[in-house]
Amino acid sequence: MPNVDLHCHSTASDGLLPPAEVARRAAANGVEMLALTDHDDIAGLPAAREAAKACGMAFVSGVEISIEWEGTQIHVVGLNFDPDNAALNAGLAEIRSGRIDRARRMAAELEKVGIGNAFDGAMRYAENPNLISRAHFARYLVEAGVCKDVRSVFEAYLVPGRPGYVDHRWAGPAESVGWILGAGGVTDDTHTARYRISNGAMRRFLAEFRDLGGQAIEVVSGSHSLDDVGTFGRLAREYGFMASRGSDFHGPKESYVDLGMLGYLPDGLKPVWSVF
Ligand code: AMP
Ligand code: MN
Ligand code: MN
Ligand code: MN
Repeated sequence: MPNVDLHCHSTASDGLLPPAEVARRAAANGVEMLALTDHDDIAGLPAAREAAKACGMAFVSGVEISIEWEGTQIHVVGLNFDPDNAALNAGLAEIRSGRIDRARRMAAELEKVGIGNAFDGAMRYAENPNLISRAHFARYLVEAGVCKDVRSVFEAYLVPGRPGYVDHRWAGPAESVGWILGAGGVTDDTHTARYRISNGAMRRFLAEFRDLGGQAIEVVSGSHSLDDVGTFGRLAREYGFMASRGSDFHGPKESYVDLGMLGYLPDGLKPVWSVF
C-alpha cells in the first residue's frame, strides 16, 4: 500500500510550516501522495504543488471545510477538485469572512476571565489573518503562561462551555459538499471520532453526509486510536464509503503524528485515492 497522506496544514491556515516546506517534509518522510488541506483556504496549493513536483511526489488539491451540523463544528475535507472553480472559491471566502470578527469576540470573552491582549497575541501567530483560528489563540495562551501546551488549552478554554468559546456561523453540510462536487472533487469526513456527539448523532450525520454526495471517511487519522481505526473501517463498509488516510499534521512540535507516519488502511476498504 502506498504511503498516502491526505490531511495536513500549512501557514495558509493554522499550520506552522509554509506550504512548500510541508510538501518537502512529507517527501522526506516517504510520502508518495500528498494533499494539503488548509482550513477554508486554498492559497497554499500552488506552492505546495510545485515543491511536491520537484520532489517527485504526487500531489492532489485539498481543503478542510468548517461546517456546522446540529450545533456541532464538523470538518469535511475536499480532495482532487479544480482549485479555480468560482463557486468553491466564493463559498470559502464567505466562511472565512467572519473569522476576524469572531476572534475579537473570543478575545473579549477571554478578557472577562483576566486574559488580556489575546486578539493581538493570537494575530501574531496567524500568517494569514483571514484564517485566524482557535489554534492561534491556543499558541498565544501557551506563550502567556495560561496553559502548558496547546492540548491543555482545548481542555480548559475555547471549547463549548469554556471561556473564550463563541458561536460562529459556518457553512452547512449541503453547501460544502456541493462546492466540492461542483468543482469535480471528492468529499471526505475527517477525524469523526473527535466530534463531541453521541453515537446515534454520528450515525445520522454519516447517513446525511452520504445522501448529500459525501463519498469517503478518514479511517486512519492522526487523531484516531487503533480502536477508532477499526470502528471507522467497519462504518466505511456499512455505509459504502471509501477510506482515507491523513495525519492532520500542523507542525513539528505540536502534532503527535508527523506527515505520513501513520498505520495503513484495514484490509478490504476502497482507498479514496483509487479514484484520483
Ligand atoms: P477553528 O477553526 O478556529 O474553530 O479552530 C479549530 C482548530 O483548533 C483545529 O483545526 C485544530 O487545529 C485546533 N484544535 C481544536 N481542538 C483541538 C484539540 N483538542 N487539540 C489541539 N488542537 C485543537
Ligand atoms: Mn487546525
Ligand atoms: Mn479538523
Ligand atoms: Mn485538519
